[in-house]
Amino acid sequence: MKLYLVIPCYNEEAVLPETRARLTEKMKGLIAAGRISPDSRIVFVNDGSKDKTWELISAYHTEDPLVSGVCLSRNRGHQNALLCGLLTVKDLCDATVSMDADLQDDINVIDSMLDEYEKGIDVVYGARSSRATDSAFKRFTAEGFYKLMKSMGADIVFNSADCRLLSRRALDGLSEFGEVNLFLRGMVPMVGYPSSVVYYERHERFAGESKYPLKKMLNFAFEGITSLSVKPIRFISGAGLLFLLGSFAAFVVWLVRLCMGLGFSSVSFLSCLLLLVGGVLTLSVGLVGEYVGKVYLESKHRPRFIVSEFLNE
Ligand code: UDP
Ligand code: MG
Repeated sequence: MKLYLVIPCYNEEAVLPETRARLTEKMKGLIAAGRISPDSRIVFVNDGSKDKTWELISAYHTEDPLVSGVCLSRNRGHQNALLCGLLTVKDLCDATVSMDADLQDDINVIDSMLDEYEKGIDVVYGARSSRATDSAFKRFTAEGFYKLMKSMGADIVFNSADCRLLSRRALDGLSEFGEVNLFLRGMVPMVGYPSSVVYYERHERFAGESKYPLKKMLNFAFEGITSLSVKPIRFISGAGLLFLLGSFAAFVVWLVRLCMGLGFSSVSFLSCLLLLVGGVLTLSVGLVGEYVGKVYLESKHRPRFIVSEFLNE
């Protein structure tokens, strides 16, 4: 079994020597144990780093063919760098395991992922067993995010980051997704095939600092929701419908009061009209939104289906 580790790196010169040392040791151990073939690789993807990251990667490659490198022409963000790495190696290996360069993901999770792969599982998600090393704020926002995504109808694995094993056919499936706005956590479950989850402890970042400040995280969360779900548009239609129903109810009340001889209130009448117009407008915006949502989903050119087996003798 030929395993390629895919590690996106952006300005990671501080952690790279340690990451390389630990991953090399891990891979050599797996090769010695006969679990992976000797031509397996560690692929570092340099995401347009401004520091010495690429120089380090090239030097490691020269020293030891176990280390490979892919260099992006400029910084394109974690999701793009990761997908670039996966698609670059997809025809060279039997499976990939992706993880961050900062050693936050426990590298021993590779063993459990291989166990699952050997059972015939195509997609093995790595999920955090606890968020003890995250700040209370990060824990709260991250877990809230997963819950929000679920409520939006997105099929994502709770507390799973971008540490996962993908078999070759899962990678082939993933390569058929034509979208530009990437949210891999949401796309991988759409690929299908047998999947399972393995749990690991998430550590602190080994060195250097996070490349995901709050602003980037919020952007990422927003990207996640808008790239997976057109439900927010439906909220607009819902609100419009609510206004409309409200205006009808108010109008009935107004009419009943008029019939009971309680007087003609022009202010109430205008309020009803205002609510009615507001409702019609909001509903119309929602309706147009439904079509925009359809166009949006069509424009992603996602595969309509992926066939896993065809029995035809
Ligand atoms: N990363 C990347 N491109 C970017 C930002 C980050 O390839 O533009 C990589 C980074 O080198 C690391 C991974 O993405 O391997 C996760 O980033 P980080 O550890 O900073 O995020 P955090 O764990 O703090 O959420
Ligand atoms: Mg990290």
